[in-house]
Parts: sequence; structure tokens; C-alpha cells
Amino acid sequence: MVSIILKRGKEKAVLQRHPWVFSGALQQVNGKPENGQLVSVLAFDKQFLAYGHYNAQSRVAIRLLEWDEAHTPNEAWWRKRIQSAIANRSHILTPKTNTCRLVYSESDYLPGLIVDKYADYLSVQILTTGIERNKTIIINELQKLTGAKGIYDKSDLTARAHDGLEASSGILWGEFPPEYVEVMENGIKYHINIAEGQKSGFYCDQRHNRNNVAAYLKGKTVLDCFSYSGGFSLNALAAGAAQVTAVDSSALAIETLQKNIVLNAFDVTKTKTIHSDVNKQLRLFKEQEVVFDAIILDPPKYAPSRSALDKAARAYKDLNRMAMQLLPTGGLLATFSCSGAVDMETFKQIIAWAALDAGKEIQIIQQLHQPEDHPVRVSFTEGEYLKGLLLRIV
Ligand code: SAH
Repeated sequence: MVSIILKRGKEKAVLQRHPWVFSGALQQVNGKPENGQLVSVLAFDKQFLAYGHYNAQSRVAIRLLEWDEAHTPNEAWWRKRIQSAIANRSHILTPKTNTCRLVYSESDYLPGLIVDKYADYLSVQILTTGIERNKTIIINELQKLTGAKGIYDKSDLTARAHDGLEASSGILWGEFPPEYVEVMENGIKYHINIAEGQKSGFYCDQRHNRNNVAAYLKGKTVLDCFSYSGGFSLNALAAGAAQVTAVDSSALAIETLQKNIVLNAFDVTKTKTIHSDVNKQLRLFKEQEVVFDAIILDPPKYAPSRSALDKAARAYKDLNRMAMQLLPTGGLLATFSCSGAVDMETFKQIIAWAALDAGKEIQIIQQLHQPEDHPVRVSFTEGEYLKGLLLRIV
């Protein structure tokens, strides 16, 4: 096996089990490894540190897989890692929930692999050359463990470009999923368009938060901003909300949400959908002096990296300020950020500024996070991205 020696001092992060080795940390590559090839990583004094996947094109030159020298990642190793990721989720899948994330990349010690389950179908994102090279074993094991009817490749992501990979999508195993796959989450049914939908098809990371927030919405008028296929709207209706208004700029999202209301036999007269830009719509509501009892803000990632933090902070602040202005005393705001670069403390600070600008006094009544099928490894806190606050206007 090709070995790579790190510069003096660069072993520290590896010993702390961080799974990334940046290209600047490499002292010497012994051989000519191909992209995605398994290599062993040695400290400057030649002591074994870990096994990983090498990629000459990526800023992350080695993605570490295994720290025990006796456990060389072979076929049995791959199968075991997938088995353990899936076994850890077995209790999430119940008669009321047949969708969740089965594999979450570095957090499941499988860097570059994301697998989401949608009833009988799996949606897979392969983000690295290392995972590409082991695709056959991975797909076989996933099929064996889940009995999936079809496994769909949804790797059309810019992230792949970092590893020199082209976007790719299509069927990897079995049947092509139907245009709309029906899934259930917390007893609520959703149509999911795996091939055309956003991300891998659905945002299963909001499963608990949808439930938590809905518990406050009985009899309330609710504005669900960035609704996508209606995760928060449908939970609000199930909890007895008086009226729900959903806003999203994607026509497919609005169309899917409307289908989902019918699918669950909810009262269509209680729901209004608006195909528009949220910022524009919030301004319009302010001009029209429309108010709501509760607002949900679940925007896309505003800060894709740390360098975008300042701009993103302003965007989050403006968005939250505008929403707060539509809420009376006692009103509720469930506000989220899925930017990894914005940590909870920073997010709270942004919200505090928004409240000052809006002239509102607010209380945090719940702090919300990504669910357990998106675990956070203590040695890889980069895996923590979703945070939310449930606020009350006082
Ligand atoms: N709350 C959703 C997930 C939201 S994902 C759920 O529970 O499933 C973010 C959504 O924001 C996407 O559907 C995207 O189409 C929408 N979006 C992005 N920018 C927008 C904008 N400026 N105005 C309105 N919607 C926007």
C-alpha cells in the first residue's frame, strides 16, 4: 500500500481523530497513488497513524477511514461500517416513519457517502473518488440490508467537483423510482420526487423539529416560509392550525405541497400557497399590515463557507427582522439556519440583533437541532449544521 508521510506536527489532528488531512500537511508521497486509492498515513517519525482515501485534486488530500492498523479497509470492513450505520437507525423506522438518513458521511465513518431511505427506495450521494471506487460493494450491501426496490444515484452536486468528479445521477440498482414515491414521517404522508426534488429529495433532518414546533400551533394562523414540500405546513395542519400560508420560490415545491395536502386529506381551504420570493412576500405582508400568530423560517444555506459568514449574517438578520415585524405579542417564530459556518452562539447573536432592529422583545423557548440520524462526531464538529430557535415575542 502507498504510504504518505505527514509534515512534523501535522499528526496532531489525525491523532485527535479528525477525518481530514489537508494537502499542505503532506511531506512525502511514497509512490504514485491514483485518486480514490487507499493509502496509509504515517507521522513524520514513520509511525502508523491511519488509513484513508487519497485525492491529489482535492484540498482535503486524504479522507481518513480507519485508525486501527490491524483493520485494513477491505470488503468486509465496508460491509461492517454500513451494517453498523443502518443498525443504529433501526428504532427510527416505525409504522409511522419510513424515511430517514441511513448513512451520514464522516459522522458515520464513511466520508463521502450519504444515503437516504424513502420507503422502498434509497437515494445515494457519492461525493468522493474513494467512495466511487467502492461503489459496487456499498450498493450491494445497502440492497442486502434494506431490501430496497431501487437505489438511485443523486450525486449531482457541486461538492463532487472538489474531488475532480463530474455530476452523476440515475439508477444504480433495481427499479427506477416512480415520479412520486409515497413516504410517511411522524404519521404524515409525503410525495417525494427523488429524481427532480431538491437535495436527495426531502429534508428528513427536520423530522423532530416539525413535530416540536407543531405542538404550539393549534388554532393558530401560521406562515411557513421556505416551505418546500410542506414539512412544517402539514404538521401544523395535523396539529389543528386554523390557517396555514406556505411560501416557496420553487414551482415544483409548491406543486408537491399541494399534492401532499390532498394525500393527507387535510382541509384545502385552510391552506394558501404562494409561489414567490420570501423576502418580497414578507415586505408585501408588512405593507398590507397582515399579521400571523406563528412564523416558520427555514431558509436554504446562506453561508456555504466561513468566508461568506458576514454576508450570510446580514441576510439572516434581515429575514428574521422582517418576520418578527409581522408577529404580535405572544407570537411565535421558529427560525433555522442550516449553515455549518454559523454556530448556535453566532445564530443567537444574529437573532438578538434582528429583534433589536425590529423593536421586539423576545424569549428563546426551545433550542432545536438536527436529529439523531444526522449524528455529530465529537472529533468532527463540522458535521453539525442545522440549528433552530423557537422564539416568543413578549
Ligand atoms: N422547510 C422545508 C425545507 C426548506 S428547504 C421542509 O420542511 O421540508 C429551502 C426551501 O427554500 C427550498 O424549497 C427552496 O425552493 C426555497 N427557497 C430558496 N430561496 C428562496 C427564496 N428566496 N424565497 C422563497 N423560497 C426560497
